[in-house]
Amino acid sequence: MNREAVEKDESTVYLRKNHRKSRQDEIMRAWVEAQTADISEQEAVDHGADWKRIERHVLRLQRQLAHAVEQNNRKVIRHFKWLIRTSHHVKLLAIRHVTQENQGRHTAGVDGKTYTTPSERKELAEIINLRSRPLPVRRVYIKKKNGKLRPLGIPTTHDRVCQAIHKMAMEPEWDMQFSPNTYGFRPNRSTWDAISQVFQILCKRNSAQWIIEGDIKAFFDNVDHDKLLVKLAPEDRVSVRRMLKASVVDPEIGLMPSTRGTPQGGLLSPLLAVIALHGMEEELRLKAWKMGFGNSRANPGINIVSYADDFVVTCKTKEQAEQFVPVISEWLAENVGVELSVEKTRITHIDDGFNFLGFHVRKYDGQLLIKPSKDSKLAVLRKIKGVLDSNKSVKTSKVIRLLNPIIRGWGNYYSSQVSKKAFSYCDHRINQMLLKWARRRHPHKSAKWIHRRYFPQRGNRHWVFSDRHQTLATMADIRIIRHIKIQGHRSPHRPSDDEYFENRREQLMLKRMNGFQKSVVRRTNGRCPLCGCKISAEHLRRWQTNGENNVQFVRMIPERLGGQYTIENVRVTHRWCYDRYHQVYGYDTLPDNPEQYLSHQERIVNGQVVQLRSRATRDEEHNCRMA
Ligand SMILES: [Zn+2]
Repeated sequence: MNREAVEKDESTVYLRKNHRKSRQDEIMRAWVEAQTADISEQEAVDHGADWKRIERHVLRLQRQLAHAVEQNNRKVIRHFKWLIRTSHHVKLLAIRHVTQENQGRHTAGVDGKTYTTPSERKELAEIINLRSRPLPVRRVYIKKKNGKLRPLGIPTTHDRVCQAIHKMAMEPEWDMQFSPNTYGFRPNRSTWDAISQVFQILCKRNSAQWIIEGDIKAFFDNVDHDKLLVKLAPEDRVSVRRMLKASVVDPEIGLMPSTRGTPQGGLLSPLLAVIALHGMEEELRLKAWKMGFGNSRANPGINIVSYADDFVVTCKTKEQAEQFVPVISEWLAENVGVELSVEKTRITHIDDGFNFLGFHVRKYDGQLLIKPSKDSKLAVLRKIKGVLDSNKSVKTSKVIRLLNPIIRGWGNYYSSQVSKKAFSYCDHRINQMLLKWARRRHPHKSAKWIHRRYFPQRGNRHWVFSDRHQTLATMADIRIIRHIKIQGHRSPHRPSDDEYFENRREQLMLKRMNGFQKSVVRRTNGRCPLCGCKISAEHLRRWQTNGENNVQFVRMIPERLGGQYTIENVRVTHRWCYDRYHQVYGYDTLPDNPEQYLSHQERIVNGQVVQLRSRATRDEEHNCRMA
C-alpha cells in the first residue's frame, strides 16, 4: 500500500515537471491515474454517483420552486429554496459544474486549490459550508479588445461552488420575472436571440429610424450594493451581501475592501448583473408613453433590446431620442447606481448603421442587413497574425491545429447573419498572411514550389493550406443558418413552456448538424450512453457556436483496437463522461461489458460493432415511420 502511494507520487511529480498542455500528456496522465488510483475509490466518487438520478432530482426541486413562484406563495418559495441549498445532490452537481465543466476550472483562488482529481472532489464535498464567510477574491487583469485591462475577481473553488448552489436556488424565480427583451446571461438565450430581435424591430419600412446606443461606464465595477440588495428576497440577502463584501487581493496594492461592483469571475455575478438592471424595459417604456412618444401603453414608441450592460433603444425621431437619453441616464443612476457614458452614448440613424454585440446593423436602400462589424473582422485577423508571428518555425500541422478553432469559432458566431462576403474577405486575408509566412521559411525557393508545398490542390479547389493529413478550415465552408429566435416571454424554468423548449432544442440542434452527426444523435435519442442523461441544449449550443468541447463525438471501441469512425461505433457523449470512461478502463482495454453501451440491435463481433437488422426489425421501423 505504502509502495503504491510512493509510486503514485513519483509519477505525478514526473508529470508535473514536464507539464505540457498537449493531448499526448493528457492521455498519459489519464493512463497513469487509471493505473495507480484505487479504482474502487474512484467509483465511489464518480461512478457511484448516478448523475441521471441526481440531475432528475435537482430538476424536480427547481420545478417545484417554479410552481410556487407561479402561484406567488412566499412561504413555499422559501421552503424550496432552503431545500435546494441544503440538498446533497445540488452540492454534487455544483461541484461537477465548477471543477469539471467550467472554463475557469483550472484557475485557483487565493487558497491555490483547484480540486481536479476524484478524491479531491470528494474532500471538497465534505467541506462545503454555505454559512462560512467567503475568502477574499483574487484580482486578475485580462486584456480587453481596446487594449485596456479588465479586472476579474476570482473566488476560491469552495466559494465558487457555494455561488453555484445559490444560483441554482435563485435562478428559477428570477428568470421567470425578467423582461422579454433582456438576453444576456440567461438560460437558453444568446447574442443571436438579441440580434434577431434587433432585426425584428428595425426591418420594416415604417420601423423606427433613430437608435440610441447605450454605453454604461464600467458597469460591473460600479453596481451599487445597497440598491442591488434591496431587490433581492430576504432569504437570499445575507449570503449575497457576504459575497459582494468579500475583500479583494490585488497583486500590487494588496488587500482592499469591496465597496462597489460585483466580482467578475464569480458564478453568481452574471445573474446579479441582470437582476440589477431588472425593470429597465418596463419602466422606460412607461416613461416614453407618458412623454407622449407612442399611441398606447402597449405601443409606447420605443423599443429596447439589452444584452447584460449593452443595450439599444429605438426612437421614431431624432428629437425624441435626444429627449430620452437623460431619462435613461436618470433611471440608471437611481436604480442601479451606474452612469451612462456621455461621450460613448450615441444617437445614430439606421442608414448610417450602428454596432451591437459585434454585428453591424444598417439599412442599405431600405433593406436591413446585419453583417460582422469592421472591428470584429480586424480583431480576428490580428489574432491570426499574432499566432503566425509567434509560430514562425513550427510544423504546418501545428499551425493548422492552432488556427482551426479560431477560424471556426469566429465564423460560427457570425453564421446566423449576412456574412458570406465578410467570410470570403477574411479567407483571402488569411491566405495572404499564410503565403507570407511560408515565403519567409523558404527564401530561396520559387513561388511555384511554395504553392505546391503549402497550398496543394484539394478536389477542385486551389490555394487550400494543408499538409499531408490536415487541412486548414475556411470560412467559406461555414453554412449560413438562420437562427430561431426565442419567444420573448418564454422561460425554460416555467413548467408550461416545456413543450416549446423541447421542440426548439430539437430544431436548433438538427439545423446545425451534418447527416452523420444527426444519425448518431438520433440513434441514442440525444442521450449520453455513459451516464444516460440527455445532452443539454446549453452544452450543444456552446459546442455548435463557440466550439467548446463539452460534447464529443467519440469511438466507443478505440481506434487502437480497430474501432472505426462509423455510425455504429460513434457515440455523442459528455466530455467529462468520456474522460472518466478512459480513466477507469485505460486506452488499451475494452470495458468489461461493452454491450451495455450499445443499442439492442448491435453486437460486438471480432472487436467491431456490427448491426443486426432482421427483417422483423426493419418492418417495425417502417411501421413506426408510417405511424
Ligand atoms: Zn454523460
